[in-house]
Order: sequence, then C-alpha cells, then structure tokens
Amino acid sequence: MRLFVGLDFPWETRQMLASLAGGVPGARWVSPENLHLTLRFIGEMPLHRAEEIDHALASLGQPSFLLVLTGIGTFAKGAHEMSLWVGVERNPALEKLQAKIETALQRAGCPPDRRRFTPHVTLARLRDPAPAKLVAFVQGHNLFRSPPLMIEHFVLFSSQLGKEASVYTPEATYPLLAAG
Ligand code: ATP
Ligand code: MG
Repeated sequence: MRLFVGLDFPWETRQMLASLAGGVPGARWVSPENLHLTLRFIGEMPLHRAEEIDHALASLGQPSFLLVLTGIGTFAKGAHEMSLWVGVERNPALEKLQAKIETALQRAGCPPDRRRFTPHVTLARLRDPAPAKLVAFVQGHNLFRSPPLMIEHFVLFSSQLGKEASVYTPEATYPLLAAG
C-alpha cells in the first residue's frame, strides 16, 4: 500500500478552502474530501511494514496545537508551475510533530526524507495554467487566513492513485495530547 502521514481537516475548513477554487484555466482543483496537509510521504509498503509504521506512530506524546492556514504559493518543476497551495503560519508545534514523525519512521526502518518540510495544503494541480490568471489568483487570495484550527490528531493515510483523482483512506488516527 502507498502510505503517507498527514492532517485532515473538519468539513467547515474543507468548504472554506474549496471555496477558493476557480479562475485559473489549467487548474485541476482538489475536491473537498481530498484536502489534507502531508506531514511525511512514505510510499509503497507491504502490509507488515505498514503495521510496524502504525506502531511507531502510536505513541509520539506530542500535544494538540492551533494551526492557521494562510498565504498562497505554487510549486514549479523547472519552468512549469505544477501545484497551487495554501501555506501555514509559522508553527513550532507542527514542526516538532513532523520531526517526531520523521524520527519514528526512521526508527521503524524507513529511509530518511532529506527534503525540507514545506507545510502546505494543495488546492490544485496545474497543467499549463494561464500565467496571468495564476498570478492574479495568488495575489487575489494572498490575504486568505483561516481561523485558528485545533489540531488534535494526525492520520496515516493510504493512497490509491487514480486517473482523475487519488482516493485517500485513513488507515489509523493518532490522537495528540490534550493541550494545557
Ligand atoms: P497524484 O500523484 O496522482 O497527483 P496524489 O499526489 O494526490 O496523487 P500521492 O502521490 O499518493 O497522491 O501523494 C499523497 C500525498 O503525499 C500528497 O499530499 C502528495 O503531495 C504527497 N507526496 C507524494 N509524493 C511525495 C514525495 N515524493 N515527497 C513528498 N510528498 C509527496
Ligand atoms: Mg502525488
């Protein structure tokens, strides 16, 4: 199974993010049920490894925290804009959680992920987007700011790649410790 660790969001948050969609020809917007924040991509794993990973993630002892989604950005491959996303406000608790997850996964035998963690929620995949429209979208939504979201758990997802869209299934949910 293809696995990744991430945050899911309540329905209101998904609706709020989904309502940003539109105005960029060449954008394939992520459907509300698929909106998420990837903490760590794991990739293809046999079931017995998935069980070890589940075990490793089960007791990180990290606290709940507030997260604010804000700012719009894009990822490009060379000259090609590939994705459009909303970022997060600087968040040491989130960074700590992702570092703990990284350590736990390495202990469980996953090869290290050396890429810098760039927390984001992908809003759209891009294919030859109209450049002026993309710039206008980024500028037009840059002041977007979610209310503070209480993050009380994280999730091990499996991902089934599809032609139109992938299907993400929560395989396990890990509560964070109550704040305060
Ligand atoms: P598709 O690749 O068909 O667009 P997807 O990206 O929705 O589908 P996956 O490729 O399974 O589905 O990815 C699941 C999550 O992990 C997504 O948030 C994706 O951005 C992220 N991800 C995928 N591959 C990597 C990688 N090599 N490094 C970091 N994150 C990744
Ligand atoms: Mg992908």
